[in-house]
Amino acid sequence: MKSARLVEFGAPLQFEEKSDPIPKGTEVLLEVMACGVCHSDLHLRDGYYQMGKGEKLFVKDRGVKLPLTPGHEVVGRVLQVGPDAKDISLGEVKLVYPWIGCGDCEECEDGTPQLCSAPKSLGIYQDGGYSDRILVPHPKWLLDTHGLAPEYACSYACAGLTAYGALKKSLPLSKKDYLLIIGAGGLGMFAAQILPLMTDAQVIFADLDEGRLAKIRELGFQTVNSSEGDVSDAVRKFSGPKGVSSVIDFVNNSATSSLAFSLLKKNGRMISVGLFGGELKIPTPILSLRSLTVRGSYTGSPSELAELLKIVSEKKLLPIPVQVKSMKEADSILNDLSSGKVLGRVVLSDLRI
Ligand SMILES: [Zn+2]
Ligand SMILES: [Zn+2]
Repeated sequence: MKSARLVEFGAPLQFEEKSDPIPKGTEVLLEVMACGVCHSDLHLRDGYYQMGKGEKLFVKDRGVKLPLTPGHEVVGRVLQVGPDAKDISLGEVKLVYPWIGCGDCEECEDGTPQLCSAPKSLGIYQDGGYSDRILVPHPKWLLDTHGLAPEYACSYACAGLTAYGALKKSLPLSKKDYLLIIGAGGLGMFAAQILPLMTDAQVIFADLDEGRLAKIRELGFQTVNSSEGDVSDAVRKFSGPKGVSSVIDFVNNSATSSLAFSLLKKNGRMISVGLFGGELKIPTPILSLRSLTVRGSYTGSPSELAELLKIVSEKKLLPIPVQVKSMKEADSILNDLSSGKVLGRVVLSDLRI
């Protein structure tokens, strides 16, 4: 088993080789075929999230323990199964649902393990897919990829599911409503891909990067370059002076969240998703007087992921841009993500070291 591991926060990943684990009980060992690189892997490597005003939320205080193999967007082929693992066969290709919970709490019992207070997520609290092997605790966390190529299927486990979960919360929207999406990186690209199947609302994307916006325009959406001029004015040019009915903020730093909030029309909804860090100051009377909703959205449930994969394969959606790289490049990819240089999604598929 060859893995790229996080041994020390703030330091580059280290490569490690050891013998393959043997699955026990209900465990399943998979050969990793593809693993997406997510922006939250960067926070893991840094060891913290920015909370605004220079304050940090340390991932070790949230229960993350090192050494750890990151990677929570994994497609693999079943190599070996534990004696109690049922309904799974050797050689099957599966997408791993990584947002595993404790299994005992109300959220876990309700089928929303992503909201468990004692999470055991793969690639965050347990070893993930920056490796040629991954051990999954139970076959119930393995989903059908519906024949999608591993390098495209893997990112639905986090980026795709996160975009889908946020879009669901931004609805209902009618044809005359405007939806503003802040951020046209990986999450924004997935949203653009799925959107036409979910709403006929008018959609505006805002981002700092002209290259990413050009891709979004190719898909037929309006765009606003937030590095140029007054973004609020530019958005209102499309939506009219009242603003937009929903905003999904895939960046969610201090600047984007206050922009998102200021652009909501009465009865509007703001969905905070990104983990770029910051804070939002809200005058409380505005919330009630304008009847606004501000809510967060974190990934999605196993049933939502299964639903999403089915939609993607049935509707034959065009895949988002994917750059395929080798595990040896993991650190430099994280550096590129940090500087905002990545278009679409980066996926590790050559997992040798
Ligand atoms: Zn992720
Ligand atoms: Zn739980």
